[in-house]
Parts: sequence; C-alpha cells; structure tokens
Amino acid sequence: MSEHGYVLPPTRAGRFVISDVAVVDVAGGAAIPGQDVTIDHGVIASVRPHGEPVATHHVKVDGHGRWLAPAYVDGHAHVLNSPSGVEASHALMLASGIWGWRQLSGDNQLLDARRAGRLPSYPGSPALLAMPGQVLTPLNAGDEAQTRETVRSQAARGADFIKVAMTNRETCLAAIDEAATLGLPVVGHLPDDLDPREASAAGLRCVEHLGPGNGVFSAVSRRGDEARRHGRPRSLPPFAGRFEPLVQKVITRVVVNPQMATSADDAVAMRIADDGYDPALAAELAQVYREHETWQCPTLIRLHTMEFADAHEHTRDAGVRYVDPAEVRRWRLMTRRFRRLPDATRRAFDRRWHVQVDFLRALADADVAMFAGTDANGAGWVIPGLALHDEFALLAHAGLSALQILRMATAAPARFLGIEDAHGQVREGFAADLVLLGGDPTRDVAALSDLHGVVRGGGWWDKDDLDAILERVAAEPTAR
Ligand SMILES: [Zn+2]
Repeated sequence: MSEHGYVLPPTRAGRFVISDVAVVDVAGGAAIPGQDVTIDHGVIASVRPHGEPVATHHVKVDGHGRWLAPAYVDGHAHVLNSPSGVEASHALMLASGIWGWRQLSGDNQLLDARRAGRLPSYPGSPALLAMPGQVLTPLNAGDEAQTRETVRSQAARGADFIKVAMTNRETCLAAIDEAATLGLPVVGHLPDDLDPREASAAGLRCVEHLGPGNGVFSAVSRRGDEARRHGRPRSLPPFAGRFEPLVQKVITRVVVNPQMATSADDAVAMRIADDGYDPALAAELAQVYREHETWQCPTLIRLHTMEFADAHEHTRDAGVRYVDPAEVRRWRLMTRRFRRLPDATRRAFDRRWHVQVDFLRALADADVAMFAGTDANGAGWVIPGLALHDEFALLAHAGLSALQILRMATAAPARFLGIEDAHGQVREGFAADLVLLGGDPTRDVAALSDLHGVVRGGGWWDKDDLDAILERVAAEPTAR
C-alpha cells in the first residue's frame, strides 16, 4: 500500500464546478438537466443553469450525460468495531458513495475517544453521524433499576441514542422511559415479549432489521398467540457476566450469523407466526408506526445473508477480496455449520424471508418512515460499503421504487438524524457530499450503483480513483 493509505488525497478540492450535469432533486423526485454545481470548500456554493458565467479560475469536472445526487448514508453499521479494520471499511464506503454512517454499537472508550477527537479518520472518511454506548443486554440491563442506571450513565458519557439488543418487555420499556427524560431516542431489536404496537406507542424511535425476532411477526399473524407460546426468549449464556473478554469473543462469533442460534422450537414458532401472516394486520401495524413516527431500518442484506448464508451469491461474492481473510474464514466456518441446520429450520428461514419482504412492502405502501442500512462489519457476507448496493437491489426486489430507495439512502436518514437542513439534497448551502451517476436514480435503481465519481467533504474522486481505492484494499485487506 502507498504511504498515504488506501485513499489518496482528492484530485480536486477547494473550489470547482461540476458542469452541465442533471441535478437530482430528491424531494421533488425528478432530475433537472443542464446545471452547473459549484463546490466551495465542502459546501455547495451554487446550482445554476449551465452556461451562466462561472469564475474562470474554477476547475471543471464535466458532468455532461451524468446525474448528480446526494451521497449515501449507511444507516446501520458497526464500522468502529470492524474486525477487518476501520481504515479499510472507510475506504470501501468512500468507493461506494457513502458519506456517513450511523454506528449501532459503542462503548465508553469509543464515546470518550470521540469526545477527545481521537477516533480514526482518513482522507475521504465517511462521517460518524450517531453512536450509542454499549448495547443493552442482560449484562448491563438485567432489571429495570440497572437499565435506568445504564441509560443515565450512557447519556452522561455522551451517547447519541440508546440501542436495545437483548432486553425484555420490562427493561425495554424502562429504557425508553428513562431515555425520554434525558432527551435520547431508543432504537434496536424488539424483545419477543413486547408487542411492537406497544413499543411504538411508548416511543421506540427505530426498529432495526424489521424486528428482527418473532415479536413483530407474531403481531402481524393470525396465529400470533400460538407462536408466542412456542417462543423462548433469547438469553446470554449464564457465565456471561463474569468473563467480559470471553463474552466479547462469543459475541463476535454470534454476530457473524445470529440465526445460527435458532433452535428447533424457535423454527416451529417462526413457522406458526409466518403461516398466519396477515396483510391486514401488517397494514394495521404500519399505521401504528406511522402514527407514532416509529422508523424502520430493514437491512434486507443482513436478513438475506443470515437466512440464506450458503447461497452462491454470498459465498461466491467477488467482494470478499476486500475483506480480511481471517474474517472471511469465520464466515466460511459459519456457512459450513449453517448447511448442517435441520431442513425444517432452513424452510422456516425461507418462509420468514418471504414474509419479511411482504411486510416491508406493506410498510412502504403505508409510507412508514424508513432508511437504508446494511449491518456491515462483523456480519457474515455483508461487505462494508458494497453491501449498501446489495441493499438497494434487495429493496427493489421487495417492490420499492427507485425514488423510494434513493430517498432511503439520502434525505430520509438526514431527517431521522435531524440534519436535513444541510444534508441529503443537492442544494445551495448544503454539504458537498455527492455522487456522480451514469443514469437517473429517480427512475432506475441500478443507476444508484453506477458510480462515476464521489464528492466527499468537498473533495473529488473520479471513477479511476475509486477503482484504485478498491484495488488497494484488495491488495491489503487485513487490519493494520
Ligand atoms: Zn447491527
């Protein structure tokens, strides 16, 4: 690798013009052809019809025949815990047109490092847009009192939100209640014993992975009560509290594919819920989400790689060349064990996938607020950066329009994060984080992945630069 790392300094920065380009109006849902977009030190200085006089000293990037859209947000990733290293992930994200991400797991060290300005950053690094403290599990949220204490201490440490991962109805509701008094949102995985309608009404801000457990799918099933009776709450191993480093190792292994922990009983509970899937109940739940502004970050790529871990599209994904070989070995080991799961369990996953896709379409039809994410870094076969483009394709497969998907990657996460006044649109005064595309992303989802250049933080990397970044990561994907 060059002494500069994976990403060389941008070939254009400061003041330059992207000329004669079609500007994508994300809010309006159309592209306006023939525009000159002036970038000035990280900010969009002007958007004007092509040909109006522009200061001659401005370097030009020819945008003719291209579309200029806001760069993307990966709304769900674990970059800072990446087993493959943060620098490689950042490079892959830049090369994939991603300007920022929401980090879904933090800890005291990361919160302190951010406050001290000591988080790793490289040329073109995507921005860390929000980060929680340690995710809530029985380790730090064993009962209501401990949960409230944990929420208070994470808030004091500077967490932007609270992430629940393994809670129950009591501790999840306590977290939401305590966090509300501190002005912090709570997001995460719904406990199986908490009805999503109750969680939504209580103020849960965002559901990750559409649930991901059986709670949501019991709530949209005519056989929900029966499914719940078969369910068994997930828990940590009993030794968990005493051996933190060991627990971290276990978690790293489990994160590769949490579905590996599906028991025969769990599979039965899934089948019961999914056999009773009722579109009318799904539409009702969607209305509840809308009413209480409960967001969704579906991460279909994560769900698909968990439920079809041995599919060739994953195991033969050419993108694994960008991933640390030690990490890929963990994925292959998981996949060998995945193949040995009982047929009934595999069938339950297959059925669950189809229900998840139907449910997602029901949410989209009801205009439930959603943004795109991947769960990259640690998740089996989910390749940082590139996975967001897999996500676009899967969202399209689920029936969402190109425009819906474009919004889920740009304006919607900006709104969710409260930064919509300066991000997520190509407008004067907005941040110059942009992608130059070979097609119209309001009409064709494939255009979102047809990258011809990226502006990140006001610097310009063209397609050759982006390809070179990918090659440098492939040459040395191991954490440094
Ligand atoms: Zn995650």
